[in-house]
Amino acid sequence: MTNVADEVMRLFAEKGSDAYFGENVSNLEHSLQTAALARQAGVADTLIAAALLHDIGHLLHGFGEDIADRGIDARHEVAGEAWLRTRFQPATTEPVRMHVDAKRYLCRIDYEYAQNLSPSSLLSLKLQGGPFSDAEMREFESRPWHAEALLLRRWDDAAKIPGLNVPGLDTYRDILGRAAFVKTPDQRFSV
Ligand code: FE
Repeated sequence: MTNVADEVMRLFAEKGSDAYFGENVSNLEHSLQTAALARQAGVADTLIAAALLHDIGHLLHGFGEDIADRGIDARHEVAGEAWLRTRFQPATTEPVRMHVDAKRYLCRIDYEYAQNLSPSSLLSLKLQGGPFSDAEMREFESRPWHAEALLLRRWDDAAKIPGLNVPGLDTYRDILGRAAFVKTPDQRFSV
């Protein structure tokens, strides 16, 4: 059986060197910087795994890096969550699924946050529906894992520093293993 950590390593090896949309770091560099910030914060392995894997949808969808420039929202958080769902626990998959909504939420409640978004993040915000309305904001706050999604979002936004020296992908093998989904006897025969 293929090990989940091996699958992740392979995806990053194949596609991780692609540029991270409109930023001066690659997808892999961006993911490693996000994960490093999570590790520094001392959070659970499942959330560190979420930080590392939050943009895995970009590696899966096969669109070019200029996708937002072309006015397309690839819904990378949905593609990412669908791939992760069969491999990781909800404590990993849910913050990933909600990390775009977390940006829309933070733009609604935090003026300074919105001011400091990078130009490409602002462009994708528009495609993603813009800041939340009052009702959307309250609905977001009622969801499980929203606090974790907000933490992930802050690391995500800070993880765009060209040339920053951070631990490599191999550092995360054990963490990925511990965050992986463990099927209970009842779930073994379900899809
Ligand atoms: Fe990201």
